[in-house]
Amino acid sequence: METRFGDRLMYIGGEFVASESGEWMPSVNPATEEIHGRVPAGTAADVDRAVEAGLAAQVEWAKVSVWERGEIIRELANAIEARADEIVELEAADTGNTIASLSGDIMLAKGYLNFTAGLGIEIKGETVPATVENIHFTMREPYGVVGRIVPFNHPFLFAAAHLAAPLIAGNAVILKSPDQSPLSASLMAEICHGVLPPGLVNIVHGQGMVVGDAIVRHPKVPRIGFTGSVGTGMAIQRSAAEVGIKHLSLELGGKNPFIAFPDADPSAVAKAAVGGMNFSWSGQSCGSTSRLMLHESIYDEVVEQIVAAVNAIKLGDPLDHSSGMGPVNSEGHYRHVTSFFESSEKDGATLLTGGKRPEGAQFEKGYWVEPTVYGDVTMEMRVAREEVFGPILSILKWSDPDEVVEMANCLDLGLTAAIWTNDLNTAMNTVRRIDAGLIWVNGTGRHYLGTGFSGWKNSGLGREECLEELLSYTRSKSVHIIL
Ligand code: NAP
Repeated sequence: METRFGDRLMYIGGEFVASESGEWMPSVNPATEEIHGRVPAGTAADVDRAVEAGLAAQVEWAKVSVWERGEIIRELANAIEARADEIVELEAADTGNTIASLSGDIMLAKGYLNFTAGLGIEIKGETVPATVENIHFTMREPYGVVGRIVPFNHPFLFAAAHLAAPLIAGNAVILKSPDQSPLSASLMAEICHGVLPPGLVNIVHGQGMVVGDAIVRHPKVPRIGFTGSVGTGMAIQRSAAEVGIKHLSLELGGKNPFIAFPDADPSAVAKAAVGGMNFSWSGQSCGSTSRLMLHESIYDEVVEQIVAAVNAIKLGDPLDHSSGMGPVNSEGHYRHVTSFFESSEKDGATLLTGGKRPEGAQFEKGYWVEPTVYGDVTMEMRVAREEVFGPILSILKWSDPDEVVEMANCLDLGLTAAIWTNDLNTAMNTVRRIDAGLIWVNGTGRHYLGTGFSGWKNSGLGREECLEELLSYTRSKSVHIIL
């Protein structure tokens, strides 16, 4: 069958290959439901091939100086920028994320690679005065072959950026693309092909339960970096533990609180609350502040402005630069997101806007959902407790500062949080009391490279976007020279 983007192969050992199974998986345009490309449905045998290729390449890569590795990673960054238009067009069609926002992902990928490329010299050990007469020091070495498994919301950004730390640390990588939006990983494969030695990066497509699981369980993959849902993160912990002692980092889901104090400017809060929902990604962003907790004194004013701003979001073709929001990513995810409409109504939330599929010929096909806001939400309701990972904002009202901290912390998640106040004492007292790995004071959404990103509680394990991530792709060895 002829499709717009055609068949995209896997990348193993420096070659573009089909799966040993001969099977293929369709990739669907979420805006139209058209099949617009295919990727091979990888198997455990393909993962084996990729691991063997990675092992062979890694031995040589570990002999390359960190300076040279850094130069090569910078070349990857430049090659990405050179193909930016092609990448964002394919990514917008394959994910439903708007083309206007996706240009930002290209710059983030480039920045991440360049930042990490410059950190190579920080892969340092320590000298330790354990005895007077001898020499004691530690050194850091790569693991060998590491697995990176990525989700559907920023598939290209993750495919590119998640190579940086393992590579500069001297590892080879097996990357698994998300099966709902796998196509842009094939562009990353083409970019790697022009820059990296064969086998150093291998990109395997296929289902999580097959390819992802095979990577996790592979005896020669001791280190896995996973980004995705809490449920899959827990499954990976279990699978890994069944086969050996593996080193995992887990970047997982969130249900992130945004607490607005009475002194905050209502207009600024409304604007930030809409921005923090990442509607241009259809809310499919782990850091989205989807639980807005407004002090009762500003509730009505903020709600009114939020509803106006959300009503102004233009739903439309993700490839159209004027679109403010596209569809959600897949049929399965559409069912998950829209299930909150029924449960929220049943739970007694007040629908302020949205809450259905948009009307019009343009939206007859595809996984379209209106940007949605619920008011009068309480922490007993499903929409306040579970990650929607979609364009649904829940607004809660509070009056007592202790009560709002309890509301913010009562879930088993702790990824991000936002606090809005002009009072430094209020801000810092609340920062200290909130269980989350990243907190914005008078901000939302933005990541600051170098400062780290990580979840507390069930939101994750390990820290990314900083030196700690790079060091986590090394293992330490203690050396004692007896004189
Ligand atoms: P997901 O269902 O957990 O899938 C993530 C990846 O894991 C996919 O490549 C998936 O493959 C694979 N996978 C599934 N089952 C597996 C298994 N048993 N063993 C190994 N791999 C397996 O997550 P998603 O729905 O794609 O992404 C949304 C979630 O990611 C949300 O919870 C969001 O908050 C989280 N997220 C977190 C961060 C962060 O930095 N904290 C960033 C982005 C997203 P298939 O695609 O083939 O199923």
